[in-house]
Amino acid sequence: MTQHFAVFGYPIAHSLSPRIHAAFAKQQGIAIDYTAIETTPENFSEALKSFHKFGGRGANITLPHKQTAFALCEKTSERAQRAGAVNTLIRTETGWDGDNTDGPGLIHDLTERHRLDLRGRRTLLLGAGGAARGVAPALLDAGIDELFVVNRTAGKADALVDAIGQPGRVHPRYWEDLKDLGSFDLIINATSAGRQASSTALPFTLVTTRTLAVDLSYSEAAIAFMSWAKAANAGNVLDGLGMLIEQAAIGFSIWHGVRPETDEIYGQLRKEVVGLHNGD
Ligand code: NDP
Repeated sequence: MTQHFAVFGYPIAHSLSPRIHAAFAKQQGIAIDYTAIETTPENFSEALKSFHKFGGRGANITLPHKQTAFALCEKTSERAQRAGAVNTLIRTETGWDGDNTDGPGLIHDLTERHRLDLRGRRTLLLGAGGAARGVAPALLDAGIDELFVVNRTAGKADALVDAIGQPGRVHPRYWEDLKDLGSFDLIINATSAGRQASSTALPFTLVTTRTLAVDLSYSEAAIAFMSWAKAANAGNVLDGLGMLIEQAAIGFSIWHGVRPETDEIYGQLRKEVVGLHNGD
């Protein structure tokens, strides 16, 4: 029997998740349909109810619904609680269980696919939205050194840092202070600035030839940050395509009990995705 899954977001038209999950399901011989459902923040809760009535077994949640989805869950995993955001929903008899696979997806991509050692890296996290909240605890668990969190709205960086609760290791800073922070071994762009016409002004002093610069976005949205990092001579510049595929693989294994192989779909999508990726 075909099982129903979906990704909810706003906007969602260009999501690669339906293709990724269809490829995993084919590979594993599991019959699913997986659709993209565009819904505004006001309508998200109703849309999720309709999806359940339709027989929805699980869903991915993307921008801007991750925190709302967290609040709607009956039960949440520890990593979802640490993030205060969910990107994966699992339907039970009584409600939705929520998980957050963004953090482990990023770490898997960097350490397994790209064979990068994150330990001891002085790290800058740009952004404090749903994605930043998902990846920050996972980066700390992966052994990075100090973590500096900088966000356009300073209060959100403060809240993220407070929620992590490691004051000796994790620090909020103002955007205006970026020029005084020195250089970093790892810079993660978890802002959605690249999706808009406006781009973020970042000083070259953040980067050395040892710096690994990662944009969680991919395709056109990643071009501005990746161009900046390359112009600043960063040693390694990656986009978020691998993370997208790995977080999907973890979600797939939660839903179906089997971990799919990810290299084939990564290779296919890498050929199609626009960007200045130089990490392969
Ligand atoms: P949110 O809407 O939750 O957060 C957006 C963040 O971007 C906020 O910190 C916001 O700052 C900041 N921001 C937005 N516009 C600007 C700007 N012009 N200048 C500076 N900062 C800005 O989005 P998410 O956290 O869910 O997603 C962030 C990015 O990560 C997206 O591009 C998304 O596609 C990508 N992503 C990729 C994933 C993957 O698997 N590869 C998974 C999840 C996300 P403020 O608080 O001031 O508004």
